[in-house]
Amino acid sequence: MGAAAVGAPGPAPVRVLVVEDEHAIATEIARRLEAEGWQVTVASDGLAGVQANRTQRPDAVVLDVMLPGIDGLEACRQMQAERPVPVLMLTARDDETDMLVGLGVGADDYMTKPFSMRELVARLRALLRRVERSHHAAAAGRGGPPAELGDLVIDHAQRRVRRGVDEVHLTPTEFDLLACLAEHPRTVLTREQLLEQVWDWADASGTRTVDSHIKGLRRKLGPDLIRTVHGVGYALEPTHSA
Ligand code: CA
Repeated sequence: MGAAAVGAPGPAPVRVLVVEDEHAIATEIARRLEAEGWQVTVASDGLAGVQANRTQRPDAVVLDVMLPGIDGLEACRQMQAERPVPVLMLTARDDETDMLVGLGVGADDYMTKPFSMRELVARLRALLRRVERSHHAAAAGRGGPPAELGDLVIDHAQRRVRRGVDEVHLTPTEFDLLACLAEHPRTVLTREQLLEQVWDWADASGTRTVDSHIKGLRRKLGPDLIRTVHGVGYALEPTHSA
C-alpha cells in the first residue's frame, strides 16, 4: 500500500492494467507483458478500468481509446482525478492521437494501432523508469530550495508548482516537462530533446506526446509561459504577472 510501490526496488513485480475491449488484442498484450515478469490485470470496458485502477493500484495503465460505456478519454480523466497513474493510450489512427492531444486528457504517452509488442514494452519500460526516477528524486529531496522564475515557483523536493499565489496541480509528466524547460529558461528545446530528457524515449512518433503535454501545461499555467518556436520546439519565458 502507499504511493511508493513503484519506487521500491526488489522483488515486487510491476503491475500493469490493460483496458481493452478487443479480446484478442488484450490477450496478446497481457501475454507479452507477463513474459516480462509483470503482473497484468485486464479490464474490458472503461468503467471496469477505472475501478481496477482504484482496487488493483497498478504501476501503469495501457488504455484503449475506443471502449464501450465510458471511452478511454473519460476513463483517463476519472483515473487521474481519483488515483494518478502513468497512462499509455492506444489510438486507432494518427488523427485520433491529434484529437486527444488537443483535448489534453492527461495520458503520458500515445501509440497508434497497429503497433509492435516490442515497442509497447519499450515505451512502458521508459514510462516506468521515469516514474521511478521521479520518486527517487522526490525522496532524495533533490533541488534544494524552490526555484523561482518570474512568478513561477518550482519546488523539486515537494514536486509542487505555484504561479503567483496559486498552486497548480500537474501530472508527474507535466511536472517533469516543466522542470526540464525551467532548467534552461529562455532557451529553445527541440521536441526531440524534450522527448529524450523527459520521456527517456527518442522516437519521431513521440513528438505528439510532447505537444500534448505542452498544451496541458498551458491550460494549467496560462498561455503566456511557454513559447512555441515553429518548426523547432519550445522555450520557457518567465514573466511577472500583473
Ligand atoms: Ca477498443
